[in-house]
Amino acid sequence: MPVERAAKGRLFETVAAERERLGDLARWLWENPELALRETAASERLRAVLEEAGFDVETGVGGIETAFVASYGEGSPVVGTMGEFDALPGLSQRAVAERDPVEPGAPGHGCGHNLFGVGSLGGALAVKEAIARGDVEGTIRYYGTPAEEAIGGKVYMVRDGAFDGTDAIVSWHPGWYNAPGKGSCLAVDSLEIRFEGTSSHAAAAPEAGRSALDAAQLCNLGVEFMREHVPDEARIHYVLPEGGDAANVVPASATAEYSIRAPDREGVEGLTDWITDIAEAAARMARVDVCITRTAGYHDLVPNEVLGNAIGENMDHLGAMTFDDEQLALAGDLCESLGDVADAIAEIPADHRDAAAESAMYTDPVNAPDAGDVGMYSTDSGDVSWQVPLGRFTAATWPVGTPAHSWQAVAAGRDLGIEGALYASKVIAATLCDLLADEELLDEARAEFERRTVGQEYESPLAADANPYDLITR
Ligand SMILES: [Zn+2]
Repeated sequence: MPVERAAKGRLFETVAAERERLGDLARWLWENPELALRETAASERLRAVLEEAGFDVETGVGGIETAFVASYGEGSPVVGTMGEFDALPGLSQRAVAERDPVEPGAPGHGCGHNLFGVGSLGGALAVKEAIARGDVEGTIRYYGTPAEEAIGGKVYMVRDGAFDGTDAIVSWHPGWYNAPGKGSCLAVDSLEIRFEGTSSHAAAAPEAGRSALDAAQLCNLGVEFMREHVPDEARIHYVLPEGGDAANVVPASATAEYSIRAPDREGVEGLTDWITDIAEAAARMARVDVCITRTAGYHDLVPNEVLGNAIGENMDHLGAMTFDDEQLALAGDLCESLGDVADAIAEIPADHRDAAAESAMYTDPVNAPDAGDVGMYSTDSGDVSWQVPLGRFTAATWPVGTPAHSWQAVAAGRDLGIEGALYASKVIAATLCDLLADEELLDEARAEFERRTVGQEYESPLAADANPYDLITR
C-alpha cells in the first residue's frame, strides 16, 4: 500500500520544522565553497546533523576522506538518497544580479551542490522521523558523495561496495524546473595526456630541442581528423592547460586534457583507445615521451521509469512552490541578465513553455522532459544506477532558463534556491516512504532495473589501483 496522505503530511511537517536549520546550513555551504576532495567542512557539517539525529555514520568510504554513508533504522527494505557538496573553481559570486565575485578567482557553488547536499539531508531526516514514529519500517541511508565535479566520488564508493544491499535510491539535482528524470546520459572518460620533450634555445639550438607542444598539437590535429568518423552522439573536447612558458624556449612539457563521451561505456572505451593511439603516434612524430592517465570514468545512466513516475506523483501532490516579493525581484533581475532563454525553455514539454517564458521562477511540476532521451551530459550517478534502481529529479532552485555552472546559478543558490532544496526534501521523503511502505512499487522498480541491465556486467571504469588524490590535476 502506498503511504497515505496523512502520513505524507507528517513528512512535510518534519521538513518544515527543519526549515531554519537546513536553510542556515545551505547558506553556510554557499558562503564556504570547497573544491572536490577538499570539501572537509561541508562533509563534517552534514555528518554532524545526521549523527545528532541518531544515524550511524561511516566515513572515508571508497578511500575518500569526505565520502560517508549514514544509516538509520533496521532491516529491509533499505532505501537511500545521495547528497553532493563540492563547489567549482573560479565561480565566486555574490547573491546579486550582476557579475560580482566575492573573491575573484575563488570557488563558487555554480552547480547548486550547497542545496543538493542539504535538500537530500532534509529528505533523509524526514524518513528517519517516519521510521522512528512507526509510520514505515526499514532502513534509510544518506550517501555523502564528494568530488562530483572532478574525479567522481560515487565511482569510488561503488568500487568499495557502498551501494550493496540498498534496494532503491532517490536523488535530485538543482535546476530551473520541477520534473522527474526518466532519461539516460552519456558515459565519459577524462584523460590527461602529458608530453615530455627536451628544452633548448629556440633560436640558437632548435636542433637540440624536442617540443612537447608539437606533440600536443599533433595529437589534437589527429583527433580533429578522427572526429569525422565517430558516431553522432559522441562528444570529444579538450584544453591545453600547459604548453610552454616562453616562445624562445622549446617547450619541454605540454599537457592536453580530454573529455570523451558516448552513450555507453563500450562506445567511450573504443574512442579512448583510438585517442590513446593518436597520442602515442604524436609523441613518436615529435620524438618525445607521453604519459596518459584516465583521471575519471563514468557510466551512462540506467533510467528507471517506475521511480520517475512515483516521483512525478509526489510532485503533482505537492504542486507549485511560492516565493516572496524579494525572492521574485532577484529572480526577475537574474532572468534579465540571462538574455534570450528560448532554447532552454524548449527543453520542457510544449504545454508549459508559454507560462515558463512569462515567469521568473517556474515551479509547476512538468512531466519528465527527458523520457527516452540520452542527455548530453555525464554524471557519476551513472555508476550508482548500475548497482541499484535510481530515481532522479530536478527541482527548481534557479530562475527560468538558468544554466548550471553559470554565475547566475551561484547568485540564486544562496537564498532563492533554498525553497527548491526544501521542495526536494519533501519529494525525496515522500517517494522513499512510498518505497518503504509499498512492496509492489519496489518490486516493479527492481524488475525494471533488471530488465535494463540484463546480460550486461558492470565493470568499474577505474584502474585497480586508482587513487583519487593522485588524479586531481588542478
Ligand atoms: Zn552538479
